[in-house]
Amino acid sequence: MNVLRVDLDAFAGNLHAIASRVAPAAPMLVVKDDAYGHGLARIVARARAEGIGWFGAFDVGTALAVRAASDVSVRVFAWSIHDDDAADAVAHGIDAGVGDLETLLLLADEARHQATTALVHLKIDTGLHRSGVRPEQWNDVVARAATLVEEGVIDVVGIWSHLAESSDEEDDEARDIFVAAAEAAERAGLRPRLRHLAASAAAFARAEFRLDLVRVGAFAYGIRSAGGPHETTLGLNQIATLSATVAEVGETTVTVAIGALDGLPSPIAGRLRVKTPGGQRMLRSIAGGSSEVETWPGARIGDEVVIYGSGASSSTDLGELIGSIGEEIAVRISPLVERRYEERAVREGSAVRPTR
Ligand SMILES: *Cc1c(COP(=O)(O)O)cnc(C)c1O
Repeated sequence: MNVLRVDLDAFAGNLHAIASRVAPAAPMLVVKDDAYGHGLARIVARARAEGIGWFGAFDVGTALAVRAASDVSVRVFAWSIHDDDAADAVAHGIDAGVGDLETLLLLADEARHQATTALVHLKIDTGLHRSGVRPEQWNDVVARAATLVEEGVIDVVGIWSHLAESSDEEDDEARDIFVAAAEAAERAGLRPRLRHLAASAAAFARAEFRLDLVRVGAFAYGIRSAGGPHETTLGLNQIATLSATVAEVGETTVTVAIGALDGLPSPIAGRLRVKTPGGQRMLRSIAGGSSEVETWPGARIGDEVVIYGSGASSSTDLGELIGSIGEEIAVRISPLVERRYEERAVREGSAVRPTR
């Protein structure tokens, strides 16, 4: 029996810590990959109750799932838009991240067809080269966008980009490119209300990157950056605890019912100490559906062993042992592992801040 316990009160605490840290910028909660493996519906519902007004969804399918789990007044940002889902994005009023002229024209066509206005956030490529309008094409794209705004088929709500976060110098250069692009957009006659650039780490560490909106994923779930400051230093708590029960007690090891097929990365065997009723013990080996843990006095079938989370290592500690990151560990946990939510009643009047 394996379970991923998700402490929604701790999650709410993280949201409030983030909101006060980044103010006056507004936080967008990123919920891609099933809310980093925590389960999208409950995460969205609680975030909504705490006053989060913006959600970052990656693709249109996820954006529609956010809509289904919340209400029509939330703003949902999706930045992977394709031919076959642009119509849905427009019909459902999704804020579309647009990194090339083709997608801009596609959304404008859809809006024309549906006699409505597509919500667009233009992305400038500030050096990550993952997607985004190249700086040398930016002026053409914003000029084209301005004519579409005039026609009434698009609204340029925002200008955005994504940081590499590999060095402060690189991020500074990216910010310069970004600011110049936002100014060029203004000169072209666009009036974007939201500039957004930072994800968790830059939003926390660097005030000049917060701008109007920050897109926060990892930190909302209490997952610190690998090699970065500790959760407690950040004022955050990891919200998920992954545990498994003892299925068999042997001479030197116990067998727990969680393995590689449940999402445990095999390279952590022999490196990770897990939390047992007898204290910290080495996770010795990982098979498909089970793992062996060094035994302890009085070990019994049904005992709980915590792989990561409350009282044990964090998912980032675990990631660091194998040259990975906490998010990767979290999103690997099989959807077949039961998610169990813990929450007290949602407090009244605790809203993060009104939607911008
Ligand atoms: C994943 C993602 C984020 C959130 O990043 P974290 O480091 O988890 O906060 C923000 N923006 C974009 C475009 C992303 O893909």
